[in-house]
Amino acid sequence: MIHQFDTVIVGSGGAGLYAALEASQQSKTAVLSKLYPIRSHTGAAQGGISAALGNVEEDKAEWHAFDTVKGGDYLVDQQAAQILAEEAIQAVYDLENRGLPFNRTPEGRIDQRRFGGHTRNFGEGSVRRSCYAADRTGHMILQTLYQQCIKNNVTFFDEFQVVDLLLDGGTCSGVVVVELATGEIHIFVAKAVLFATGGFGRMFKTTSNAYANTGDGPAVCARRGIPLEDMEFFQFHPTGIMGLGILISEAVRGEGGILRNRDGERFMEIYSPTLLDLAPRDIVSRAIITEIRAGRGIRGDRKIDDYLHLDATHLGKDLLRSKLPDISSFCQTYLGIDPADSPIPVLPTAHYAMGGIPTDVHGRVIGDAKGTIVNGLYAAGECACISVHGANRLGTNSLLDLVVFGRRAGKHIVDYVKQADPVTPGKDAGADARAWIAGLTDRQAGPHGGAIAEEMQTTMMEKVGIYRNETDMQAAIDNIQSLRERYRSVRVQDTGKSFNTDLLEIIELGSLLDLSLITAASALARKESRGAHSREDFPERNDETWLKHSLAFLEKDTVRLDYKDVDTSIWKPKPRTY
Ligand SMILES: Cc1cc2nc3c(=O)[nH]c(=O)nc-3n(C[C@H](O)[C@H](O)[C@H](O)COP(=O)(O)OP(=O)(O)OC[C@H]3O[C@@H](n4cnc5c(N)ncnc54)[C@H](O)[C@@H]3O)c2cc1C
Repeated sequence: MIHQFDTVIVGSGGAGLYAALEASQQSKTAVLSKLYPIRSHTGAAQGGISAALGNVEEDKAEWHAFDTVKGGDYLVDQQAAQILAEEAIQAVYDLENRGLPFNRTPEGRIDQRRFGGHTRNFGEGSVRRSCYAADRTGHMILQTLYQQCIKNNVTFFDEFQVVDLLLDGGTCSGVVVVELATGEIHIFVAKAVLFATGGFGRMFKTTSNAYANTGDGPAVCARRGIPLEDMEFFQFHPTGIMGLGILISEAVRGEGGILRNRDGERFMEIYSPTLLDLAPRDIVSRAIITEIRAGRGIRGDRKIDDYLHLDATHLGKDLLRSKLPDISSFCQTYLGIDPADSPIPVLPTAHYAMGGIPTDVHGRVIGDAKGTIVNGLYAAGECACISVHGANRLGTNSLLDLVVFGRRAGKHIVDYVKQADPVTPGKDAGADARAWIAGLTDRQAGPHGGAIAEEMQTTMMEKVGIYRNETDMQAAIDNIQSLRERYRSVRVQDTGKSFNTDLLEIIELGSLLDLSLITAASALARKESRGAHSREDFPERNDETWLKHSLAFLEKDTVRLDYKDVDTSIWKPKPRTY
Protein backbone atom coordinates (compact mmCIF):
# COMPACT_ATOMS: atom_id res chain seq x y z
CA MET A 1 0.00 0.00 0.00
CA ILE A 2 1.23 3.51 -0.78
CA HIS A 3 0.59 6.48 1.54
CA GLN A 4 1.26 10.10 0.70
CA PHE A 5 2.22 12.69 3.33
CA ASP A 6 4.22 15.92 3.43
CA THR A 7 6.10 14.78 6.50
CA VAL A 8 6.80 11.38 8.00
CA ILE A 9 8.23 11.16 11.50
CA VAL A 10 9.76 7.81 12.40
CA GLY A 11 9.58 7.31 16.16
CA SER A 12 7.28 8.55 18.87
CA GLY A 13 9.65 9.16 21.77
CA GLY A 14 10.20 12.69 23.04
CA ALA A 15 12.05 13.81 19.91
CA GLY A 16 9.54 12.39 17.41
CA LEU A 17 6.51 13.70 19.29
CA TYR A 18 7.90 17.19 19.69
CA ALA A 19 8.81 17.36 16.01
CA ALA A 20 5.35 16.01 15.12
CA LEU A 21 3.65 18.68 17.22
CA GLU A 22 5.43 21.39 15.26
CA ALA A 23 5.35 19.82 11.80
CA SER A 24 1.69 18.78 11.96
CA GLN A 25 0.57 22.36 12.49
CA GLN A 26 1.30 23.25 8.89
CA SER A 27 2.05 20.06 6.98
CA LYS A 28 0.26 16.76 6.51
CA THR A 29 2.19 14.65 9.01
CA ALA A 30 2.28 10.96 9.93
CA VAL A 31 4.09 9.46 12.91
CA LEU A 32 5.23 5.87 12.43
CA SER A 33 6.28 3.90 15.49
CA LYS A 34 7.18 0.27 15.91
CA LEU A 35 5.89 0.55 19.48
CA TYR A 36 2.69 1.94 20.88
CA PRO A 37 3.88 5.57 21.34
CA ILE A 38 3.96 5.78 25.11
CA ARG A 39 6.04 2.61 25.33
CA SER A 40 8.98 4.50 23.81
CA HIS A 41 12.16 4.52 25.89
CA THR A 42 11.75 8.21 26.75
CA GLY A 43 9.12 6.96 29.19
CA ALA A 44 11.85 5.17 31.18
CA ALA A 45 13.88 8.33 31.80
CA GLN A 46 13.98 8.97 35.48
CA GLY A 47 16.19 11.74 36.72
CA GLY A 48 15.25 14.96 34.99
CA ILE A 49 15.70 17.57 32.30
CA SER A 50 18.28 20.32 32.68
CA ALA A 51 17.70 24.06 32.32
CA ALA A 52 19.43 26.97 34.03
CA LEU A 53 16.19 28.32 35.51
CA GLY A 54 18.00 29.43 38.64
CA ASN A 55 14.92 28.61 40.72
CA VAL A 56 16.75 27.33 43.79
CA GLU A 57 20.19 28.87 43.39
CA GLU A 58 21.96 31.16 40.94
CA ASP A 59 22.48 29.60 37.50
CA LYS A 60 23.21 30.75 33.95
CA ALA A 61 22.73 29.27 30.48
CA GLU A 62 26.37 30.10 29.79
CA TRP A 63 27.51 27.87 32.67
CA HIS A 64 25.25 25.11 31.35
CA ALA A 65 26.73 25.38 27.85
CA PHE A 66 30.26 25.31 29.23
CA ASP A 67 29.54 22.25 31.40
CA THR A 68 28.12 20.49 28.34
CA VAL A 69 31.26 21.24 26.32
CA LYS A 70 33.65 20.23 29.10
CA GLY A 71 31.55 17.18 29.99
CA GLY A 72 31.80 16.09 26.36
CA ASP A 73 35.60 16.33 26.59
CA TYR A 74 35.65 19.20 24.06
CA LEU A 75 34.31 17.12 21.17
CA VAL A 76 31.05 19.10 21.41
CA ASP A 77 30.14 21.58 18.68
CA GLN A 78 30.06 24.69 20.83
CA GLN A 79 27.47 26.84 19.02
CA ALA A 80 25.07 23.89 19.17
CA ALA A 81 25.70 23.49 22.91
CA GLN A 82 24.97 27.16 23.37
CA ILE A 83 21.63 26.77 21.58
CA LEU A 84 20.84 23.76 23.77
CA ALA A 85 21.52 25.64 27.00
CA GLU A 86 19.84 28.89 25.95
CA GLU A 87 16.68 27.31 24.53
CA ALA A 88 16.45 24.95 27.52
CA ILE A 89 14.76 27.55 29.68
CA GLN A 90 11.86 28.23 27.30
CA ALA A 91 11.63 24.51 26.48
CA VAL A 92 11.02 23.59 30.12
CA TYR A 93 8.42 26.34 30.55
CA ASP A 94 6.73 25.14 27.34
CA LEU A 95 6.51 21.65 28.79
CA GLU A 96 5.08 23.10 31.98
CA ASN A 97 2.50 25.08 30.02
CA ARG A 98 1.56 21.99 28.08
CA GLY A 99 0.74 20.27 31.34
CA LEU A 100 3.85 18.56 32.68
CA PRO A 101 3.53 18.08 36.47
CA PHE A 102 7.02 19.07 37.69
CA ASN A 103 7.94 18.81 41.38
CA ARG A 104 7.67 22.21 43.05
CA THR A 105 9.56 24.31 45.58
CA PRO A 106 7.56 25.48 48.61
CA GLU A 107 7.04 28.79 46.71
CA GLY A 108 5.46 26.93 43.81
CA ARG A 109 8.33 27.14 41.34
CA ILE A 110 9.72 24.17 39.39
CA ASP A 111 12.09 22.39 41.80
CA GLN A 112 15.62 21.49 40.69
CA ARG A 113 18.23 18.97 41.81
CA ARG A 114 21.89 18.23 41.25
CA PHE A 115 23.21 16.00 38.48
CA GLY A 116 26.65 14.88 37.35
CA GLY A 117 28.90 17.45 35.69
CA HIS A 118 26.46 20.37 36.06
CA THR A 119 28.29 23.11 37.94
CA ARG A 120 28.14 26.70 39.06
CA ASN A 121 30.55 29.30 37.70
CA PHE A 122 32.52 27.07 35.32
CA GLY A 123 33.24 24.18 37.67
CA GLU A 124 33.27 25.54 41.23
CA GLY A 125 30.85 22.95 42.56
CA SER A 126 27.57 21.14 41.78
CA VAL A 127 24.56 23.23 40.87
CA ARG A 128 20.85 22.36 41.07
CA ARG A 129 19.89 22.45 37.38
CA SER A 130 17.77 19.35 36.76
CA CYS A 131 13.99 19.92 36.64
CA TYR A 132 12.12 16.75 37.55
CA ALA A 133 8.83 15.02 38.18
CA ALA A 134 9.84 12.61 40.97
CA ASP A 135 11.87 9.88 39.20
CA ARG A 136 9.41 9.68 36.33
CA THR A 137 10.41 12.73 34.32
CA GLY A 138 10.56 10.96 30.95
CA HIS A 139 7.23 9.25 31.58
CA MET A 140 5.65 12.64 32.22
CA ILE A 141 7.25 14.20 29.12
CA LEU A 142 6.00 11.38 26.94
CA GLN A 143 2.47 11.49 28.35
CA THR A 144 2.33 15.27 28.04
CA LEU A 145 3.53 15.33 24.43
CA TYR A 146 1.35 12.39 23.39
CA GLN A 147 -1.75 14.06 24.81
CA GLN A 148 -0.88 17.24 22.93
CA CYS A 149 -0.41 15.28 19.70
CA ILE A 150 -3.80 13.61 20.12
CA LYS A 151 -5.36 17.00 20.85
CA ASN A 152 -3.78 18.38 17.66
CA ASN A 153 -4.95 15.46 15.51
CA VAL A 154 -1.53 14.10 14.59
CA THR A 155 -1.97 10.91 12.54
CA PHE A 156 -0.32 7.87 14.16
CA PHE A 157 0.56 4.54 12.60
CA ASP A 158 1.35 2.40 15.64
CA GLU A 159 3.31 -0.85 15.35
CA PHE A 160 4.65 0.06 11.92
CA GLN A 161 8.34 -0.81 11.61
CA VAL A 162 10.49 1.12 9.14
CA VAL A 163 12.96 -1.13 7.32
CA ASP A 164 14.33 1.04 4.52
CA LEU A 165 14.79 4.60 3.33
CA LEU A 166 13.97 5.87 -0.15
CA LEU A 167 16.78 8.10 -1.32
CA ASP A 168 17.26 9.17 -4.93
CA GLY A 169 20.20 11.31 -5.94
CA GLY A 170 20.65 13.04 -2.60
CA THR A 171 16.94 13.63 -1.99
CA CYS A 172 14.80 11.63 0.39
CA SER A 173 11.37 10.60 -0.84
CA GLY A 174 9.99 8.32 1.87
CA VAL A 175 10.36 5.08 3.81
CA VAL A 176 9.49 1.40 3.48
CA VAL A 177 7.57 -0.08 6.39
CA VAL A 178 6.31 -3.44 7.66
CA GLU A 179 2.97 -3.41 9.47
CA LEU A 180 3.23 -5.67 12.49
CA ALA A 181 -0.42 -6.75 12.55
CA THR A 182 -0.53 -7.96 8.96
CA GLY A 183 3.05 -8.33 7.71
CA GLU A 184 2.08 -6.07 4.83
CA ILE A 185 4.73 -3.80 3.30
CA HIS A 186 3.77 -0.13 3.02
CA ILE A 187 5.48 2.69 1.21
CA PHE A 188 5.20 6.10 2.82
CA VAL A 189 6.00 8.81 0.30
CA ALA A 190 6.95 12.15 1.88
CA LYS A 191 8.89 15.31 1.12
CA ALA A 192 10.44 15.25 4.57
CA VAL A 193 11.35 12.23 6.71
CA LEU A 194 12.60 12.64 10.27
CA PHE A 195 14.28 9.78 12.08
CA ALA A 196 13.75 9.85 15.84
CA THR A 197 14.30 6.16 16.51
CA GLY A 198 16.25 6.45 19.77
CA GLY A 199 19.32 4.61 21.02
CA PHE A 200 20.94 1.24 20.47
CA GLY A 201 22.15 -0.01 23.84
CA ARG A 202 21.01 -3.49 22.83
CA MET A 203 24.40 -3.93 21.11
CA PHE A 204 25.70 -4.68 24.61
CA LYS A 205 25.04 -7.55 26.99
CA THR A 206 24.33 -5.39 30.02
CA THR A 207 22.28 -2.30 29.24
CA SER A 208 19.73 0.06 30.72
CA ASN A 209 18.01 0.24 27.33
CA ALA A 210 14.65 -1.25 26.39
CA TYR A 211 14.44 -4.23 24.02
CA ALA A 212 13.28 -1.95 21.21
CA ASN A 213 16.46 0.20 21.33
CA THR A 214 18.09 -1.37 18.32
CA GLY A 215 19.17 1.65 16.28
CA ASP A 216 17.05 0.95 13.21
CA GLY A 217 17.17 4.59 12.06
CA PRO A 218 20.97 4.93 11.95
CA ALA A 219 21.32 1.43 10.45
CA VAL A 220 18.83 2.13 7.66
CA CYS A 221 20.62 5.41 6.89
CA ALA A 222 24.07 3.79 6.96
CA ARG A 223 22.97 1.17 4.44
CA ARG A 224 21.85 3.95 2.11
CA GLY A 225 25.24 5.66 2.21
CA ILE A 226 24.71 8.20 5.01
CA PRO A 227 27.72 8.36 7.35
CA LEU A 228 27.36 7.91 11.10
CA GLU A 229 29.16 10.37 13.34
CA ASP A 230 31.26 9.70 16.46
CA MET A 231 30.03 6.15 16.86
CA GLU A 232 33.03 5.20 19.03
CA PHE A 233 31.51 7.16 21.91
CA PHE A 234 29.03 5.02 23.84
CA GLN A 235 28.22 5.95 27.40
CA PHE A 236 28.25 3.49 30.28
CA HIS A 237 26.14 4.73 33.16
CA PRO A 238 27.90 4.03 36.45
CA THR A 239 24.93 2.68 38.36
CA GLY A 240 23.00 -0.19 36.82
CA ILE A 241 21.61 -2.86 39.13
CA MET A 242 24.40 -5.42 39.44
CA GLY A 243 23.93 -8.28 36.97
CA LEU A 244 20.78 -6.84 35.37
CA GLY A 245 21.78 -3.42 34.08
CA ILE A 246 18.46 -1.86 35.05
CA LEU A 247 19.16 1.80 35.69
CA ILE A 248 19.44 3.35 39.12
CA SER A 249 19.15 7.02 38.20
CA GLU A 250 21.94 9.48 38.86
CA ALA A 251 19.20 11.35 40.74
CA VAL A 252 20.04 9.09 43.71
CA ARG A 253 23.49 10.70 43.84
CA GLY A 254 21.92 14.06 42.95
CA GLU A 255 19.88 13.76 46.16
CA GLY A 256 23.00 12.83 48.16
CA GLY A 257 23.64 9.11 47.54
CA ILE A 258 27.29 7.99 47.88
CA LEU A 259 29.30 5.30 46.08
CA ARG A 260 31.36 3.08 48.40
CA ASN A 261 33.89 0.29 47.93
CA ARG A 262 34.31 -2.87 50.05
CA ASP A 263 35.97 -0.90 52.83
CA GLY A 264 33.06 1.51 52.93
CA GLU A 265 35.26 4.27 51.48
CA ARG A 266 33.81 7.11 49.42
CA PHE A 267 36.31 6.37 46.65
CA MET A 268 35.19 9.22 44.36
CA GLU A 269 37.16 11.54 46.67
CA ILE A 270 40.27 10.26 44.90
CA TYR A 271 38.98 10.47 41.33
CA SER A 272 37.06 13.74 41.49
CA PRO A 273 37.92 15.86 44.55
CA THR A 274 35.52 18.70 43.61
CA LEU A 275 32.42 16.99 42.26
CA LEU A 276 32.86 13.62 44.01
CA ASP A 277 29.98 11.26 43.16
CA LEU A 278 28.58 13.84 40.76
CA ALA A 279 31.51 13.80 38.34
CA PRO A 280 30.55 13.08 34.70
CA ARG A 281 29.57 9.49 33.97
CA ASP A 282 32.63 8.40 32.02
CA ILE A 283 34.82 9.33 34.99
CA VAL A 284 32.63 7.59 37.58
CA SER A 285 32.27 4.42 35.47
CA ARG A 286 36.04 4.18 35.03
CA ALA A 287 36.53 4.78 38.76
CA ILE A 288 34.24 1.85 39.55
CA ILE A 289 36.12 -0.49 37.21
CA THR A 290 39.46 0.72 38.60
CA GLU A 291 38.31 0.05 42.17
CA ILE A 292 37.14 -3.44 41.24
CA ARG A 293 40.36 -4.21 39.36
CA ALA A 294 42.33 -3.09 42.43
CA GLY A 295 40.48 -5.66 44.55
CA ARG A 296 38.28 -3.13 46.31
CA GLY A 297 35.00 -4.41 44.86
CA ILE A 298 32.46 -6.24 46.95
CA ARG A 299 32.23 -9.98 46.46
CA GLY A 300 28.93 -11.11 45.06
CA ASP A 301 27.09 -14.11 46.45
CA ARG A 302 28.28 -16.23 43.57
CA LYS A 303 31.86 -15.30 44.42
CA ILE A 304 32.53 -14.28 40.84
CA ASP A 305 30.77 -10.96 40.43
CA ASP A 306 32.33 -7.98 42.07
CA TYR A 307 30.30 -4.84 42.40
CA LEU A 308 30.15 -1.64 44.44
CA HIS A 309 27.61 -0.06 46.71
CA LEU A 310 25.43 2.95 46.09
CA ASP A 311 24.54 4.06 49.58
CA ALA A 312 21.28 5.98 50.00
CA THR A 313 20.52 4.76 53.52
CA HIS A 314 21.25 8.17 55.06
CA LEU A 315 18.69 9.94 52.84
CA GLY A 316 15.77 8.70 54.88
CA LYS A 317 12.56 6.93 53.94
CA ASP A 318 10.57 10.12 53.38
CA LEU A 319 12.90 11.56 50.76
CA LEU A 320 13.25 8.21 48.98
CA ARG A 321 9.48 7.71 48.87
CA SER A 322 8.67 11.24 47.69
CA LYS A 323 11.52 11.98 45.25
CA LEU A 324 12.72 8.51 44.19
CA PRO A 325 9.67 6.26 44.42
CA ASP A 326 10.35 4.20 41.28
CA ILE A 327 13.95 3.57 42.28
CA SER A 328 12.77 2.35 45.67
CA SER A 329 10.32 -0.03 44.06
CA PHE A 330 12.91 -1.31 41.50
CA CYS A 331 15.17 -2.18 44.45
CA GLN A 332 12.33 -4.04 46.15
CA THR A 333 11.34 -5.90 42.98
CA TYR A 334 14.72 -6.84 41.56
CA LEU A 335 16.90 -7.03 44.66
CA GLY A 336 14.46 -7.57 47.49
CA ILE A 337 15.93 -4.63 49.43
CA ASP A 338 14.74 -1.26 50.64
CA PRO A 339 17.34 1.41 49.73
CA ALA A 340 16.45 3.19 52.97
CA ASP A 341 17.88 0.20 54.89
CA SER A 342 20.52 -1.35 52.61
CA PRO A 343 23.02 -0.04 50.05
CA ILE A 344 22.27 -0.87 46.39
CA PRO A 345 24.69 -3.24 44.57
CA VAL A 346 25.65 -1.52 41.30
CA LEU A 347 27.85 -1.88 38.23
CA PRO A 348 28.16 0.24 35.05
CA THR A 349 25.58 -0.46 32.35
CA ALA A 350 25.58 0.46 28.63
CA HIS A 351 23.32 3.47 28.46
CA TYR A 352 23.55 6.11 25.77
CA ALA A 353 24.79 6.58 22.20
CA MET A 354 26.57 9.90 21.80
CA GLY A 355 27.06 9.12 18.11
CA GLY A 356 24.47 8.77 15.39
CA ILE A 357 23.11 10.34 12.21
CA PRO A 358 24.99 13.64 11.64
CA THR A 359 22.78 16.73 11.59
CA ASP A 360 23.03 20.50 11.72
CA VAL A 361 21.21 22.55 14.37
CA HIS A 362 17.96 22.37 12.36
CA GLY A 363 17.98 18.57 12.33
CA ARG A 364 18.98 18.39 8.66
CA VAL A 365 21.05 15.30 7.91
CA ILE A 366 24.59 15.90 6.70
CA GLY A 367 25.88 13.49 4.08
CA ASP A 368 29.66 14.01 4.14
CA ALA A 369 32.63 15.75 5.74
CA LYS A 370 32.03 18.86 3.59
CA GLY A 371 28.61 19.37 5.16
CA THR A 372 26.41 18.53 2.16
CA ILE A 373 22.75 18.46 3.22
CA VAL A 374 20.62 15.44 2.29
CA ASN A 375 17.43 17.07 1.01
CA GLY A 376 14.33 16.21 2.97
CA LEU A 377 16.08 13.97 5.50
CA TYR A 378 16.09 14.94 9.20
CA ALA A 379 17.09 13.29 12.48
CA ALA A 380 16.58 14.23 16.13
CA GLY A 381 16.93 12.72 19.58
CA GLU A 382 19.30 9.95 20.59
CA CYS A 383 19.68 8.58 17.05
CA ALA A 384 21.09 11.93 15.88
CA CYS A 385 24.50 13.53 16.43
CA ILE A 386 24.41 17.33 16.30
CA SER A 387 26.86 17.17 18.23
CA VAL A 388 25.86 18.54 21.64
CA HIS A 389 27.11 15.59 23.70
CA GLY A 390 30.56 15.16 22.16
CA ALA A 391 32.50 12.32 23.73
CA ASN A 392 30.33 12.04 26.85
CA ARG A 393 26.79 13.27 27.55
CA LEU A 394 25.88 14.90 30.85
CA GLY A 395 22.88 13.47 32.68
CA THR A 396 19.56 15.29 31.94
CA ASN A 397 20.92 16.74 28.70
CA SER A 398 19.28 14.07 26.57
CA LEU A 399 15.67 14.83 27.48
CA LEU A 400 16.60 18.44 26.84
CA ASP A 401 18.12 17.57 23.46
CA LEU A 402 14.85 15.83 22.44
CA VAL A 403 12.74 18.83 23.25
CA VAL A 404 15.02 21.58 21.91
CA PHE A 405 16.14 19.88 18.71
CA GLY A 406 12.92 17.90 18.13
CA ARG A 407 11.15 21.23 18.04
CA ARG A 408 13.77 22.92 15.88
CA ALA A 409 13.60 20.09 13.35
CA GLY A 410 9.79 20.21 13.30
CA LYS A 411 9.88 23.95 12.64
CA HIS A 412 12.43 23.61 9.86
CA ILE A 413 10.41 20.85 8.22
CA VAL A 414 7.38 23.13 8.02
CA ASP A 415 9.34 25.64 5.92
CA TYR A 416 11.06 22.96 3.87
CA VAL A 417 7.93 21.12 2.73
CA LYS A 418 6.28 24.40 1.70
CA GLN A 419 8.92 25.06 -0.95
CA ALA A 420 10.04 21.51 -1.83
CA ASP A 421 8.94 19.95 -5.11
CA PRO A 422 6.67 16.91 -4.90
CA VAL A 423 8.61 13.63 -4.72
CA THR A 424 7.93 10.47 -6.66
CA PRO A 425 9.92 7.43 -5.66
CA GLY A 426 11.09 5.10 -8.41
CA LYS A 427 8.87 2.21 -9.60
CA ASP A 428 11.02 -0.30 -7.74
CA ALA A 429 10.57 1.48 -4.38
CA GLY A 430 10.38 -1.17 -1.71
CA ALA A 431 11.76 -3.92 -3.96
CA ASP A 432 14.95 -4.33 -1.92
CA ALA A 433 13.02 -4.65 1.34
CA ARG A 434 10.57 -7.11 -0.19
CA ALA A 435 13.38 -9.30 -1.51
CA TRP A 436 15.20 -9.20 1.83
CA ILE A 437 12.13 -10.14 3.85
CA ALA A 438 11.15 -12.87 1.41
CA GLY A 439 14.66 -14.29 1.76
CA LEU A 440 14.37 -14.31 5.55
CA THR A 441 10.97 -15.97 5.70
CA ASP A 442 11.21 -18.40 2.77
CA ARG A 443 14.41 -20.07 3.93
CA GLN A 444 13.97 -23.68 5.05
CA ALA A 445 17.12 -23.94 7.15
CA GLY A 446 19.64 -21.63 8.75
CA PRO A 447 21.00 -20.41 12.08
CA HIS A 448 18.71 -18.93 14.70
CA GLY A 449 19.04 -15.21 15.43
CA GLY A 450 19.17 -15.63 19.22
CA ALA A 451 22.63 -17.20 19.32
CA ILE A 452 24.03 -14.52 17.00
CA ALA A 453 22.56 -11.74 19.14
CA GLU A 454 24.02 -13.20 22.32
CA GLU A 455 27.49 -13.51 20.85
CA MET A 456 27.35 -9.98 19.47
CA GLN A 457 26.31 -8.56 22.85
CA THR A 458 29.02 -10.44 24.76
CA THR A 459 31.68 -9.43 22.23
CA MET A 460 30.72 -5.76 22.39
CA MET A 461 30.54 -5.80 26.19
CA GLU A 462 33.89 -7.49 26.71
CA LYS A 463 35.91 -5.99 23.88
CA VAL A 464 34.41 -2.59 23.07
CA GLY A 465 33.28 -1.62 26.58
CA ILE A 466 34.55 0.89 29.14
CA TYR A 467 38.25 0.15 28.66
CA ARG A 468 39.45 -0.69 25.16
CA ASN A 469 42.65 -1.74 23.39
CA GLU A 470 43.70 -2.61 19.86
CA THR A 471 43.89 -6.41 20.29
CA ASP A 472 40.42 -6.67 21.80
CA MET A 473 38.79 -4.32 19.31
CA GLN A 474 40.36 -6.08 16.33
CA ALA A 475 39.08 -9.39 17.71
CA ALA A 476 35.64 -7.81 18.11
CA ILE A 477 35.61 -6.62 14.50
CA ASP A 478 36.62 -10.07 13.24
CA ASN A 479 33.93 -11.68 15.33
CA ILE A 480 31.20 -9.23 14.30
CA GLN A 481 32.19 -9.77 10.65
CA SER A 482 31.72 -13.50 11.02
CA LEU A 483 28.41 -12.98 12.84
CA ARG A 484 27.26 -10.78 9.94
CA GLU A 485 28.23 -13.61 7.62
CA ARG A 486 26.16 -16.09 9.65
CA TYR A 487 23.32 -13.58 9.73
CA ARG A 488 23.11 -13.71 5.93
CA SER A 489 21.65 -17.20 6.14
CA VAL A 490 19.64 -16.68 9.33
CA ARG A 491 16.18 -18.19 9.35
CA VAL A 492 12.94 -16.74 10.67
CA GLN A 493 11.16 -19.62 12.38
CA ASP A 494 7.68 -18.08 12.46
CA THR A 495 6.27 -18.36 8.95
CA GLY A 496 3.05 -16.44 9.70
CA LYS A 497 2.23 -12.93 8.53
CA SER A 498 0.33 -11.59 11.50
CA PHE A 499 2.34 -10.23 14.46
CA ASN A 500 5.49 -11.95 13.27
CA THR A 501 7.73 -10.59 16.01
CA ASP A 502 10.35 -13.18 15.12
CA LEU A 503 10.81 -11.51 11.73
CA LEU A 504 10.94 -8.03 13.20
CA GLU A 505 13.50 -9.07 15.82
CA ILE A 506 15.72 -10.54 13.14
CA ILE A 507 15.49 -7.28 11.20
CA GLU A 508 16.46 -5.44 14.41
CA LEU A 509 19.40 -7.79 14.89
CA GLY A 510 20.59 -6.76 11.43
CA SER A 511 20.57 -3.13 12.60
CA LEU A 512 22.54 -3.97 15.74
CA LEU A 513 25.15 -5.98 13.83
CA ASP A 514 25.76 -3.11 11.42
CA LEU A 515 26.02 -0.59 14.24
CA SER A 516 28.33 -2.89 16.26
CA LEU A 517 30.68 -3.11 13.31
CA ILE A 518 30.65 0.65 12.79
CA THR A 519 31.16 1.30 16.52
CA ALA A 520 34.11 -1.10 16.79
CA ALA A 521 35.73 0.17 13.59
CA SER A 522 35.39 3.83 14.61
CA ALA A 523 36.80 2.98 18.05
CA LEU A 524 39.75 1.05 16.70
CA ALA A 525 40.69 3.96 14.46
CA ARG A 526 40.65 6.60 17.23
CA LYS A 527 44.05 6.30 18.84
CA GLU A 528 43.49 8.44 21.95
CA SER A 529 41.32 8.48 25.07
CA ARG A 530 38.53 11.04 25.20
CA GLY A 531 35.27 10.99 27.17
CA ALA A 532 33.67 7.58 27.03
CA HIS A 533 36.31 6.23 24.63
CA SER A 534 39.09 5.07 26.91
CA ARG A 535 42.05 3.20 25.45
CA GLU A 536 44.55 1.34 27.57
CA ASP A 537 47.08 1.59 24.74
CA PHE A 538 46.52 5.34 24.19
CA PRO A 539 45.56 6.68 27.63
CA GLU A 540 45.89 10.41 26.85
CA ARG A 541 43.61 12.80 24.98
CA ASN A 542 45.41 14.00 21.87
CA ASP A 543 43.92 17.25 20.59
CA GLU A 544 46.60 17.75 18.00
CA THR A 545 45.59 14.70 15.99
CA TRP A 546 42.17 13.73 17.27
CA LEU A 547 40.16 16.85 17.99
CA LYS A 548 37.81 15.90 15.17
CA HIS A 549 34.50 14.13 14.61
CA SER A 550 34.58 10.77 12.90
CA LEU A 551 32.24 9.96 10.03
CA ALA A 552 31.87 6.23 9.33
CA PHE A 553 30.56 5.04 5.98
CA LEU A 554 29.32 1.45 5.80
CA GLU A 555 30.55 0.07 2.50
CA LYS A 556 29.31 -3.51 2.18
CA ASP A 557 31.46 -5.38 4.69
CA THR A 558 33.89 -2.67 5.56
CA VAL A 559 33.78 0.69 7.24
CA ARG A 560 35.42 3.71 5.64
CA LEU A 561 36.29 6.58 7.95
CA ASP A 562 36.42 10.26 7.27
CA TYR A 563 36.72 13.16 9.71
CA LYS A 564 35.41 16.69 10.15
CA ASP A 565 36.29 19.63 12.38
CA VAL A 566 34.85 20.32 15.80
CA ASP A 567 33.39 23.79 16.43
CA THR A 568 35.59 25.18 19.22
CA SER A 569 34.68 28.80 18.55
CA ILE A 570 33.74 29.73 22.13
CA TRP A 571 36.01 27.88 24.58
CA LYS A 572 39.53 26.65 23.94
CA PRO A 573 39.95 22.95 24.80
CA LYS A 574 41.61 22.46 28.18
CA PRO A 575 42.58 19.42 30.25
CA ARG A 576 39.48 18.11 32.01
CA THR A 577 39.64 18.04 35.80
CA TYR A 578 36.75 17.94 38.25
C1 LIG B 1 16.48 3.94 31.79
C2 LIG B 1 16.84 5.26 31.18
C3 LIG B 1 16.77 6.42 31.95
C4 LIG B 1 17.11 7.66 31.37
N1 LIG B 1 17.00 8.79 32.14
C5 LIG B 1 17.27 10.00 31.58
C6 LIG B 1 17.09 11.20 32.31
O1 LIG B 1 16.68 11.20 33.47
N2 LIG B 1 17.37 12.38 31.70
C7 LIG B 1 17.82 12.43 30.41
O2 LIG B 1 18.05 13.53 29.91
N3 LIG B 1 17.97 11.30 29.68
C8 LIG B 1 17.70 10.09 30.24
N4 LIG B 1 17.85 8.96 29.48
C9 LIG B 1 18.16 9.07 28.06
C10 LIG B 1 16.91 9.48 27.30
O3 LIG B 1 15.78 8.98 27.94
C11 LIG B 1 16.92 8.95 25.87
O4 LIG B 1 18.11 9.31 25.24
C12 LIG B 1 15.75 9.57 25.10
O5 LIG B 1 14.54 9.36 25.79
C13 LIG B 1 15.63 9.04 23.69
O6 LIG B 1 14.48 9.62 23.12
P1 LIG B 1 14.15 9.52 21.57
O7 LIG B 1 12.95 10.33 21.34
O8 LIG B 1 15.37 9.82 20.81
O9 LIG B 1 13.86 7.97 21.37
P2 LIG B 1 12.95 6.91 22.15
O10 LIG B 1 12.19 7.50 23.26
O11 LIG B 1 13.82 5.74 22.44
O12 LIG B 1 11.89 6.51 21.06
C14 LIG B 1 12.26 5.84 19.88
C15 LIG B 1 11.03 5.70 19.03
O13 LIG B 1 11.40 5.22 17.76
C16 LIG B 1 10.52 4.21 17.36
N5 LIG B 1 11.24 3.33 16.44
C17 LIG B 1 12.47 2.80 16.60
N6 LIG B 1 12.80 2.06 15.52
C18 LIG B 1 11.76 2.15 14.67
C19 LIG B 1 11.48 1.60 13.38
N7 LIG B 1 12.33 0.81 12.77
N8 LIG B 1 10.29 1.89 12.82
C20 LIG B 1 9.38 2.67 13.45
N9 LIG B 1 9.59 3.21 14.66
C21 LIG B 1 10.76 2.95 15.25
C22 LIG B 1 10.08 3.55 18.64
O14 LIG B 1 8.84 2.91 18.47
C23 LIG B 1 9.99 4.75 19.57
O15 LIG B 1 8.74 5.35 19.44
C24 LIG B 1 17.52 7.71 30.04
C25 LIG B 1 17.58 6.55 29.27
C26 LIG B 1 17.26 5.34 29.85
C27 LIG B 1 17.39 4.10 28.99
